[in-house]
Amino acid sequence: MSQTDKFFDHSDVECAAEAMRKAGVMYDDLFNKLCRQIYEDVKDAATPADTLKICNNSIIHAEHIFVANFPDNYQTACQQGCSHCCHFPVQAAPQDIVQLALHIKASFSADEQLALIERMQQDVQQRGGAFMRAPCPLLTAEQSCSVYEQRPLVCRMFSSQNAQSCEQSLTDGRQIAQRPLTHRIFQAAVTALLIAAEQQGMYKEQGLLIPGLLELLTDTEGETSEFCRSWKPVFSEVLSTLQPDRS
Ligand code: SF4
Repeated sequence: MSQTDKFFDHSDVECAAEAMRKAGVMYDDLFNKLCRQIYEDVKDAATPADTLKICNNSIIHAEHIFVANFPDNYQTACQQGCSHCCHFPVQAAPQDIVQLALHIKASFSADEQLALIERMQQDVQQRGGAFMRAPCPLLTAEQSCSVYEQRPLVCRMFSSQNAQSCEQSLTDGRQIAQRPLTHRIFQAAVTALLIAAEQQGMYKEQGLLIPGLLELLTDTEGETSEFCRSWKPVFSEVLSTLQPDRS
């Protein structure tokens, strides 16, 4: 070893590695804390709409703090008119599915609802495995989302740096690398929503959006899913307060 070795010692590397490991653990724990915070924020919300509104506000607040402290210069490729991600099968929290069904009931005309139900039935029949890509029945002919303001959290928080990769996914089913920060905040938020559902004694799993919407928007006879048995009463109750003259 030469004299210059005093400027570089393996103990310095060990020290830095330990500090980074601890920082990594602290960073990971921030998302656990965020999940707990969002749960606390939403747990007493009266309706799915209130739950999602509070959840969105908490997400925006958290993202602002993260970006201020961990700037990542992430450039999203997502832009208006790009709808590749709207061909993936969408899994959503139950509150998201219920709220979207309520929105469709409240804002789509009877003809629009019938046409949508037909498209959703075709989607359910034709969509194969989890990797199959097909246009979301809520996508318009102009390739925009017909429920944009009420789109589920998973759609709201989808982020890609590479539109070409999204397009290729339509044919090869590849997973899309998303912005790590946005994805981790999303995971914390969805986990909080599912815990809130569980604490309210409700069905607490994410479900496929389109089959879930279909179950809520149509009167199914006989066996229905656990999701539907749990959440349809909430859907019907809120719907009756929104539209008392619909019955
Ligand atoms: S709900 Fe809207 S944003 Fe989500 S996949 Fe369907 S069309 Fe796209």
